[in-house]
Amino acid sequence: ESASFSKLLTSHNLRQLLDSVDAFLFDCDGVIWKGDVLIHGVPDTIDMLRSMGKNLVFVTNNSTKSRRAYAKKFQTLGISVREDEIFSSSFAAAMFLKVNNFPTEKKVYVIGEQGILDELESAGYTGLGGPEDGRKTIEWEQNNLFDHDKNVGAVVVGLDRHINYYKLQYATLCIRENPGCLFIATNLDAVGHMSVMQEWPGAGCMVAAIRGSTEKEPVVVGKPSTFLMDFLLEKFDIPTSRMCMVGDRLDTDILFGQNAGCKTLLVLSGVTTLSTLEDTANHIQPDYYTSQMPDMHKLFGE
Ligand code: PLP
Ligand code: CA
Repeated sequence: ESASFSKLLTSHNLRQLLDSVDAFLFDCDGVIWKGDVLIHGVPDTIDMLRSMGKNLVFVTNNSTKSRRAYAKKFQTLGISVREDEIFSSSFAAAMFLKVNNFPTEKKVYVIGEQGILDELESAGYTGLGGPEDGRKTIEWEQNNLFDHDKNVGAVVVGLDRHINYYKLQYATLCIRENPGCLFIATNLDAVGHMSVMQEWPGAGCMVAAIRGSTEKEPVVVGKPSTFLMDFLLEKFDIPTSRMCMVGDRLDTDILFGQNAGCKTLLVLSGVTTLSTLEDTANHIQPDYYTSQMPDMHKLFGE
């Protein structure tokens, strides 16, 4: 196996990259922001790329917000991004149901937060569960039966900061008692940046719980799955070879880009260090790497 190693981004190969790419796909956490804190210099870089006529999209595995809520977050941080330029794993979950002709009469049980419920609603679906079920408790009478809606035809699991035994039982019954029930995972990230200084258990943790209790494998709709790419391609008439995925995580962002046939740029401002990239155990090599996304602006000026 001949490994091809990543190249450090320079002003020279950045110009080549800019010439060969019509769209940049940006991961969000670790690239644009960390938690709720903007990475310095990002807005100027986005302005530069827009002034060059590049198409920009933002692809995040964090399912806690809807596309609309992400558009607001961008606005709050001083970046103008349209809702239809945002591709979140919450949106992906709703679109997965849509493309599979999931009937609107059936319901969707959600281990996850408002972003998933909002995207389901926008797509015309009825979501159950979510934050509200985080307050529910179980009656431990030995002759009580735990009741669940038999009309649930899909379970969506994403990051859920209100997860409890009630929800685990609900989702488990939906899947175990109905062999046709879909089991959809927004993403499998082990950890996420709920706050800037620290990592916290991510959706992978909640998905693992339901995988454990149901002995079923979920369909994953977030990165590195290329499910979202079909929606990107509907929006842009650009071959994936003229797209560049920019991300901080090798096994989600860079793999997503490579799976889809895009060029890839790793930034070291998130979860990946240079020593991880260079470790012989790592088999995912992006085309380029640089310390942070605003280097594109800095290097172009050189
Ligand atoms: N999931 C959760 C819960 C997160 O908090 C994060 C990052 O903070 C992610 C996923 C990864 O998001 P992204 O794909 O934007 O890096
Ligand atoms: Ca990231």
